[in-house]
Amino acid sequence: MEGFVFSLILLLVIGMLAYYRASLTLFTAAIALTLAAGTFAGPVGMVSWIIFLVLALPLNIAFVRQKLLTQPLLGLYRKIMPEMSSTEKEAIDAGTTWWEADLFRGNPDWQKLHNFPTPRLSPEEQAFLDGPVETLLDMVDDWEITHERADLSPEVYQYLKDHGFFAMIIKKQYGGLEFSAYAQSCVLQKLTSKSMVLSSIVGVPNSLGPGELLQHYGTDEQKNHYLPRLAKGVDVPCFALTSPEAGSDAGSIPDFGVVCKGQWQGKEVLGMRLTWNKRYITLAPIATVLGLAFKLQDPDKLLGDKEDLGITCALIPADTPGVKIGRRHFPLNVPFQNGPTQGSDVFVPLDFIIGGAKMAGQGWRMLVECLSVGRAITLPSNSTAGIKAAAMATGAYARIRRQFKIPVGKMEGVEEAMARIGGYAYMACASTTMSVGSIDLGEKPSVISAITKYHITERMRLAMIDAMDVHGGKGICMGPDNYLARGYQGAPVAITVEGANILTRNMIIYGQGAIRCHPYVLAELQAAYNEDNRAAVTAFDKALFGHIGFAISNFFRTFWLSLTGGAFSSAPYSDATAKYYKQMNRFSAALALMSDVAMGTLGGDLKRRERISARLGDILSMLYLTSSVLKRYQDEGRQPQDLPLVQWACEDNLARAQQALDELFDNFPNRLVGVVLKRVVFPWGRTLRRPADKVEHQVARIMQTPCEARSRLGHHLYLAAKDNNPIGMVEQALRDVLAAEPLFDKVCQAANKRLPFFRLNEVAELGLELKIISEQEAELLRKAEVSRLRTINVDDFDFNYLAADKALLESEQANTAKVNAA
Ligand SMILES: Cc1cc2nc3c(=O)[nH]c(=O)nc-3n(C[C@H](O)[C@H](O)[C@H](O)COP(=O)(O)OP(=O)(O)OC[C@H]3O[C@@H](n4cnc5c(N)ncnc54)[C@H](O)[C@@H]3O)c2cc1C
Repeated sequence: MEGFVFSLILLLVIGMLAYYRASLTLFTAAIALTLAAGTFAGPVGMVSWIIFLVLALPLNIAFVRQKLLTQPLLGLYRKIMPEMSSTEKEAIDAGTTWWEADLFRGNPDWQKLHNFPTPRLSPEEQAFLDGPVETLLDMVDDWEITHERADLSPEVYQYLKDHGFFAMIIKKQYGGLEFSAYAQSCVLQKLTSKSMVLSSIVGVPNSLGPGELLQHYGTDEQKNHYLPRLAKGVDVPCFALTSPEAGSDAGSIPDFGVVCKGQWQGKEVLGMRLTWNKRYITLAPIATVLGLAFKLQDPDKLLGDKEDLGITCALIPADTPGVKIGRRHFPLNVPFQNGPTQGSDVFVPLDFIIGGAKMAGQGWRMLVECLSVGRAITLPSNSTAGIKAAAMATGAYARIRRQFKIPVGKMEGVEEAMARIGGYAYMACASTTMSVGSIDLGEKPSVISAITKYHITERMRLAMIDAMDVHGGKGICMGPDNYLARGYQGAPVAITVEGANILTRNMIIYGQGAIRCHPYVLAELQAAYNEDNRAAVTAFDKALFGHIGFAISNFFRTFWLSLTGGAFSSAPYSDATAKYYKQMNRFSAALALMSDVAMGTLGGDLKRRERISARLGDILSMLYLTSSVLKRYQDEGRQPQDLPLVQWACEDNLARAQQALDELFDNFPNRLVGVVLKRVVFPWGRTLRRPADKVEHQVARIMQTPCEARSRLGHHLYLAAKDNNPIGMVEQALRDVLAAEPLFDKVCQAANKRLPFFRLNEVAELGLELKIISEQEAELLRKAEVSRLRTINVDDFDFNYLAADKALLESEQANTAKVNAA
């Protein structure tokens, strides 16, 4: 009995030391003390001390440990470690890690999260949003852009160039605006709320492309030539990587250049002959300078002793002889400028390589580094605005549109769809803000940018589907008054570009995250690649034993946090949000444990087990998105009105994390490990639930009622009530209808009948007749009727208006008329 009690005490001591991540020395000392106490009390004898010394001495004496354990384990590790191509190595080396690394490591410090500064606009950036951005938005008409022109008007292009919209990332010394990432995000959000074509055209030159590449890697000569021209819009850039044979697998582009001598402007120079066939290139049809990625070969070794130099990026003026450019693709019905480009044996000097000849072969590293920043800004901002706009418009429409004598937004079934849109809107804005904020803190957050890109574009697609459902036929019939359908049609564009989403979820998020965020794996890999064996053993020893301690700690943390539901773990607030922090403590520990288990049992095979990797990435993503929601709530002053939105977003995310973890166990390749660990992580089964109906009802109500929480949901959108801004008109209609409702009730009461809530102009006349309302109040009812009708009505067109080939239609109609006449 004494022995059993002592074993329990010993286990408790080990568990506590592991839970609090004690060092090896502290661990050894604490166990020695416990054994000493046991010897004093009776149950611990000589055998226990011998076992302890056999284990503790080699572990604590570095020389013995390295000889007996590290050296053989390093040999074994070198045999089983994952193979990595040079493009994979460069992708892993690119960028930095930030808050996601804390989440990955099983023990997040919430104070650290809340201490990250809140992104803010400078007065200059705010003035740009209030000035040029609003003027621009007044100039554009989305129906004209998407249907009548399939392009922006020349005046809009000129305005964009004159006011530096293409130069938000370019430094002031070159004539650019040099805005923060947060300001870029706010500008793009505001543009998207009126026109996706506009925000796509503005987004691309400010994202991954010549401007960004030149600023980081260009020679002084290239910067001084191109950057002022790009800033003024004299040059319009595009960046061409994708080819018909290489989409997701962009590292395998067949486009090539051969280093050779040739004639350039009357002189013989060292240059390259380029051959390419690219497609899907945004802005290519109107570009004056083409950023081109190709594989450079040097068969005559004119640059050194390597024949295959690798992926290289160059800037090619579009008027260079042999460059074919100008034709257009038709990306859904969101016709921003996008098209193919080709060239065959086009000769250009070597100084066209971005950064000059010394950067030959460095193209892939340049691209992944820039992508780790750009991917967090443009697509997440545009998608966030899409969700926010859907939330505002759906809320207003659902309140105005009545069926069965009540607003459709009051029906429980509709509330469910609305809550998803509202919850996603709050979360998307939170995570985009936090992600761009990290860039302004100097990070190049490659894992976060992949998480944000994937999840926010996916949520945008889901929000669009829900918004269309709630709008019914109003969303389907297109025309100048339809503010929804283009967003719905265009959603797959954001899903596909900058890393198509299936690939991003299954390969990129966790593939980069596991190695980048893990505290020891990268160090182990680097040690294993080190050819100096002595240095390799020392580095491997440090990483490996750190790793073992980390894994033991994660096991005990997971066990305890799962058993208690995280109830005793730390949370920075004790209000309604405390439980979310506690659940995240639990999932963070489980993720750290399962990462090691997956890497340990699958090794290099984990790369090919995409669905395992995807689920681990989902858990990391849900932790990141949930922390961004809690940070937003804190940064905005913990407004009680916002709580239902916070609850919805946290509960939805945590339920998704739980599902990902559960599916991971059910599908874990080693069944024994899957079954045992499922018991450890879910001792009480799946305890988390998706948001309750009551919370969904509260979210739907916020979306339909003008209030501060609703205004925060629509922050940074363009909601001015102007004729060519249908979403602003619906906002106005909501205000008009809500102002009319009490008057309508007053008239019904006086007339002693329940009138239908339409023909409000007639209700106004009745009210005047009954002398129950003033002329001013009657005017409110008439105004509400106009707004109401505008909101529920849809566009219709002349018979021939929609035909693209009107001449064909007219000639056919003329023929039919002739036949009929004859
Ligand atoms: C409108 C538009 C604008 C674009 N703009 C540009 C631009 O300006 N410049 C430029 O260079 N490119 C541009 N692109 C190209 C874009 O980046 C590619 O479309 C994208 O990389 C996907 O390539 P793909 O379309 O050939 O799909 P594919 O590579 O054929 O992929 C098909 C599907 O397979 C999935 N998949 C592929 N590999 C894996 C894997 N290992 N694991 C799991 N799933 C996988 C993908 O996720 C996708 O769902 C643009 C594309 C579009 C449509």
